[in-house]
Amino acid sequence: MSDVRQGTRLLIVGPPGSGKGTQAGRIADEYGVPAISTGDIFRANVKNETPLGVQVKAIMDAGDYVPDSLTNELIEDRLGQPDAERGFLLDGYPRTAAQVEYLDSLLASKGESLTAVVQLTADLDEIVERLRKRALDQGRSDDTEEAIRHRQDVYLRETGPLISEYEGRGILVEVDGLGTIDEVASRIDAALAARGIRPTAAA
Ligand code: AMP
Repeated sequence: MSDVRQGTRLLIVGPPGSGKGTQAGRIADEYGVPAISTGDIFRANVKNETPLGVQVKAIMDAGDYVPDSLTNELIEDRLGQPDAERGFLLDGYPRTAAQVEYLDSLLASKGESLTAVVQLTADLDEIVERLRKRALDQGRSDDTEEAIRHRQDVYLRETGPLISEYEGRGILVEVDGLGTIDEVASRIDAALAARGIRPTAAA
């Protein structure tokens, strides 16, 4: 029996480098929803030198946030696409209180709300190490050590309040993000299953 229900609308949060992108891809595959990463969309625009990309490149290189107006417009467009009708997994959005508010009203206008927010927790020093390695492997221009530390600071400052907000709504699911990909995956699956959210392709 398929388990599509009314839509599985998830958000995954965690400090930059906590492995959330990897888990997001896996959750998307297994729960049958598109993974939507604003960071990936912005990076693709920068790479293709679109007008949006040209506008946001310097901001991203400095590790700062792209203005809410641009980010909200981008996500409204993406969530309006057919593949997001029956659910989605957001990665990297919302990140500010203004974005939480925008997403709330966008979903409310369709009679929807977020189903659960998965928070990956991880030690920041360990993360800085991971990101420095990734920068070497992938040559990401926003991954200088200074930019990494700045992104962590920005994350802690801006994301803390929104994590509290989702916790207050009773939809926050905290998961220990340290361990192998499979270990973290099992923890996420168990935590979601406890809330009645299960992979669509479960045998
Ligand atoms: P990420 O890959 O999620 O770490 O995002 C990389 C960069 O894209 C961030 O450092 C920001 O410059 C920009 N970005 C991604 N998502 C957002 C967002 N929700 N709000 C503002 N800026 C964002």
